[in-house]
Amino acid sequence: MDKHNRLGSRYVELVDIENLHKALKDEAVYKTPDLQSNKVKALRTLKIVCCISTSFMCIEFVGGYLSNSLAIMTDAVHLLSDVVGFLVTILAIYISRLKANSTMTYGYHRAEIIGAMISILIIWVLIAWMFVEGIERFFKPPEIQGTTMLILACCGLFFNLVLMKILETKLETVTEESQKEELLSEFSIKQDVEKENMSMRAAQIHILGDTIQSAGVIIGALFVFFGGEDYFIADPIITIVFTIVVTFTTLPVMKDSIKVLMEGQPDDIKYETVKEKLEKVSGVVNVHDLHVWSINPGFVSLTAHICSKTPSVTLFEATKLCKKLGIVHSTIQVENFFEQDKYDYKKCEELH
Ligand SMILES: [Zn+2]
Ligand SMILES: [Zn+2]
Repeated sequence: MDKHNRLGSRYVELVDIENLHKALKDEAVYKTPDLQSNKVKALRTLKIVCCISTSFMCIEFVGGYLSNSLAIMTDAVHLLSDVVGFLVTILAIYISRLKANSTMTYGYHRAEIIGAMISILIIWVLIAWMFVEGIERFFKPPEIQGTTMLILACCGLFFNLVLMKILETKLETVTEESQKEELLSEFSIKQDVEKENMSMRAAQIHILGDTIQSAGVIIGALFVFFGGEDYFIADPIITIVFTIVVTFTTLPVMKDSIKVLMEGQPDDIKYETVKEKLEKVSGVVNVHDLHVWSINPGFVSLTAHICSKTPSVTLFEATKLCKKLGIVHSTIQVENFFEQDKYDYKKCEELH
């Protein structure tokens, strides 16, 4: 009798799994076009911003060298860090289109993380060099071309204001779209748009910081321009301040990258919350061997063992719950709960 029941429930499970796959597939097809068009738009803005930044960075490197101003050079290094950041993001969008294959079963998502880490390391080397040079110049300030420095500093401010304007218009269009998409009341789409909104806002805040930095360079340049020889020291002072600022702005990115590589808990999806919610799914007796990690920020994976009285229903609902929480890749092992062997799952739990 018992055996018959087990076989019976397995049959029900197979049928349900088929339905589940169909339901999830339908959802996926329905979602794709919106995300793609959003990504294409983001890509276009990124490319424009990247081109402008690269051109201005070259101007600053040459101008910084000609005027002998370390502050301008440091600003150029900062721009380099921005440009590399943009390039990594652009590359990541292209790479995420590459399909996973039998050798790279998760695809190439983590290429973004590796790219970000390498670029930050390069920037830290440059920043360390600027810092040492800044300290040296602090004690023995060399001659600086005040006029060139002032012109470049003013251009820097103008350039940052242009960037701000570009990102502002982009933010407006994204918000409009999110309002339109709210009508679809599809949680995942909203979440994606929100995420993009957040990253655009972060970019705006970053540019705001850059604008303040440009204002700082202008003040330094004014000192050098009007004060002459006595105020050449303003240049290394600004340099030292900026190297510290750049270090602190790149530090969180490095920290996040290491966290992803160490398979840490994602920032926006908390382990405890997921466990609690899974335990509330109908039929669930116990949740164990739960792992939540990011393949890449925004691409969250989950594996879990769930002991359940109604395996097929639990599997369906748990998978749906994961999708709702924004977990793209879930693998759930459902274990049958038997009254005769109540604590069977404990044997499995102890293994992990
Ligand atoms: Zn910047
Ligand atoms: Zn188990």
